[in-house]
Amino acid sequence: MDHLLDGTREDDRFAAVPRQVITRAARTVLDHLRQQILDGRTPDFDDAAILSDMAYHCREILALNLVPLINATGVVLHTNLGRALLCKDALENIRTIAGAYSNLELNISTGKRGLRYTAVESLICELTGAEAAMAVNNNAGAVLLALNTLAQGTDVVVSRGELVEIGGSFRVPDVMTKSGCRLKEVGTTNRTHLKDYAGAVTESTGMLLKVHASNYRIQGFTASVGLKDLVTLGKSHGIPVMEDLGSGTLVDFSAYGLPSEPPVARSVAAGADIVTFSGDKLLGGPQAGIIVGTKRAVDSIRANPLTRAIRIDKLTLAALEATLRLYRDEPTAVREIPTLRMLTMDYDHICRKADALYTQVKNVCGPNDKVACADMNSRPGGGSFPDLELPTRCVTLIPANLSVATLERRMRLSSPAIIARIENNRYIMDPRTLLPGHEPLIASTLHTILRPS
Ligand SMILES: *Cc1c(COP(=O)(O)O)cnc(C)c1O
Repeated sequence: MDHLLDGTREDDRFAAVPRQVITRAARTVLDHLRQQILDGRTPDFDDAAILSDMAYHCREILALNLVPLINATGVVLHTNLGRALLCKDALENIRTIAGAYSNLELNISTGKRGLRYTAVESLICELTGAEAAMAVNNNAGAVLLALNTLAQGTDVVVSRGELVEIGGSFRVPDVMTKSGCRLKEVGTTNRTHLKDYAGAVTESTGMLLKVHASNYRIQGFTASVGLKDLVTLGKSHGIPVMEDLGSGTLVDFSAYGLPSEPPVARSVAAGADIVTFSGDKLLGGPQAGIIVGTKRAVDSIRANPLTRAIRIDKLTLAALEATLRLYRDEPTAVREIPTLRMLTMDYDHICRKADALYTQVKNVCGPNDKVACADMNSRPGGGSFPDLELPTRCVTLIPANLSVATLERRMRLSSPAIIARIENNRYIMDPRTLLPGHEPLIASTLHTILRPS
């Protein structure tokens, strides 16, 4: 070890590397050599080779772990790839607020302590028609918090058709238990009627809950109860009614040829006491859980000590406010918010993007690599529009000298990583989720992989 560390002293490759990183790299290299000896092999003890190895490991250790990548999957809200991209205003506002002191919890006019929700409350109320609003860490947290505040120790009535599981272990029954409520299932998987809810109400009932089936559809012989009817039932018994919308939206997507997802304003107008939705699904903002509802319900949620544990961070708040204010003018929101822009991108526009990508890809491919454009479907993702396939035009590639799986892996392992999908043994690149400047990066990476010099 000492010998190796000595060897790095006059070496430029280690000049800016912290001591502890060099030591960690040396240890990795030594462990590897030891293992080779234990395996009965004779390792190469050449100093220069060992130092090169160490320099490589230093670079690996020092590189950032969370890095941007190129999403060529066409899945707009890809949870594994970070869901919604923030709009320019949100990015700028994060920078402004993060680098300065702010009035996060100060009421500037009175000089007294303020609430962090003030930054977004009136805006959310304006956009949804709600009486009161707040935001927390994410929608899972919002649901947990609302249930715990309004219905702890009571029965919460939910339709069997709405016992949703969202990827990553968020299951309505489990959240119910963790929030201290008892789940009272009513109806059947495909059909639930108002009389099922009515028959389930007892003096231990603390809430009627509706959960939006955001990532699946039950089709065929179905019946479910509208929020309005639930609200009427709840009012007649003095029981609060809550709706978890999942990916609640503030625009009417049917105006853009997409199926309509339930707008938040409609649930508010239907009279729900509490409505919760995500900040980084169809809203296209930062990870957050937004809670809107009656002043009484929201006030009691704010007073719950659990609120502090899942409170929203100031960077998120900065991004959320900047995103939300764009919704005051819908065309602006659709143009500026990447999620909305990608989801509503018209087919002709996608074709032009596909042509541009095709030309660049074709340029770097050999005569035997098969490149083509093909009409396919993109998936919105992120628990939105579950049965929707968005018409798109993709560039497909079948390399001549390597398997499609190898191509996929090499593209993924390049820098920046390029993530695409394989379908019918073709490598598929969907231009819907590409950003300006991505096409030449994809082409040059393909060039390196397909035609190594
Ligand atoms: C996505 C979703 C959640 C969880 O929201 P996060 O913001 O990811 O925490 C909860 N309920 C429903 C119905 C959802 O679709």
